[in-house]
Amino acid sequence: MLPPLRDVISRHGLQALKALGQNFLLDLNLTSRIARSANDLECATILEIGPGPGGLTRALIAAGAKRVICVERDERCLPALDEIAQHYPGRLEIIHGDALAFDPRTIDADGPIKIIANLPYNIGTALLMKWIDTPDWPPVFDELILMFQREVAERIVATNQSPHDYGRLGVFCGWRTEAKILFDVPAQAFTPAPKVTSSVVKLIPRPNPLACSPALLARVTQAAFGQRRKMLRQSLKSLNVDPLNLCEAAGLDPTRRAETVSIEDFVAITNCLSRMSNFIPQ
Ligand code: SAM
Repeated sequence: MLPPLRDVISRHGLQALKALGQNFLLDLNLTSRIARSANDLECATILEIGPGPGGLTRALIAAGAKRVICVERDERCLPALDEIAQHYPGRLEIIHGDALAFDPRTIDADGPIKIIANLPYNIGTALLMKWIDTPDWPPVFDELILMFQREVAERIVATNQSPHDYGRLGVFCGWRTEAKILFDVPAQAFTPAPKVTSSVVKLIPRPNPLACSPALLARVTQAAFGQRRKMLRQSLKSLNVDPLNLCEAAGLDPTRRAETVSIEDFVAITNCLSRMSNFIPQ
């Protein structure tokens, strides 16, 4: 039997470090609920970012995950993770490193990859964007199950029907995935407790999202939402084409503001911009 997580934390001196976004989830019901939110764990290779002392890691393996590969930056957590690897021979691989520098495409998997994680909040959106705005699509993963602060989760699932939260994150996630909030996790469930509620989000890649250059869509959404209170005829000026011509080509009223523009219309603007300028996607 593996020892209780609290014992593991005290034995290995794993005092939570704020700089690494460490809020550990020790509630076995919750870690098990997150693990069970994934489809077909038994056939999948799981990439877990930031396993920490290994609470979610244990839950994933206990729920039947065939193989878990985890990437942890904090060296102090490695001996605790090693105990789990020894307890479940051949099912857990530990990579000591920075998840921002880790490319999931380098995983040698004989089936789908799922990324499942209680993400460090300070790099959560950067990681998600790295996975979603990749030039290769469909991606190597078939499912993402990720914990974010509730406010970030709301931005991930936002559309122009929820203008307050809608922005670049919502456009990218809605364009390429079907994203939904599964459930909330109260602050007290974590050790130490963060200041805000968290939410678990599921994102399933769309097999055939509307065709569009992610690099150019990033420029368009940056321009539009960078000045979200301004009309498109003003905010799109930084794209170096006549914004009135661009809006006309995309069939949009130039007096609209970014937060009213649907994801499909952002794709239309992007494709018109691509034709009007000599932009070469990376
Ligand atoms: N999965 C554990 C749990 O649920 O209790 C810990 C989650 S904690 C919110 C985030 C974890 O990510 C910590 O273990 C932290 O050390 C790790 N981490 C922070 N920055 C990282 C990075 N750049 N690459 C990999 N892991 C990182």
